[in-house]
Amino acid sequence: MAQAKPQIREKVEYTCPKCKRDLERINRTTIDKIIGVIVPIRRYKCMGCFWEGVKIYHSEN
Ligand SMILES: [Zn+2]
Repeated sequence: MAQAKPQIREKVEYTCPKCKRDLERINRTTIDKIIGVIVPIRRYKCMGCFWEGVKIYHSEN
């Protein structure tokens, strides 16, 4: 019996607007960090078509 590997990785919040694949979260650039002071953003990249962009995330406190 093959054991199913449970994927307990962080759930993907967004999919690529171009090819609908799951986006990978990547490190923010310096500019992103500056913007991040005002608006909380995260940078995402698509491993399928190399689309890259930022999304605003809402911290739920
Ligand atoms: Zn894509």
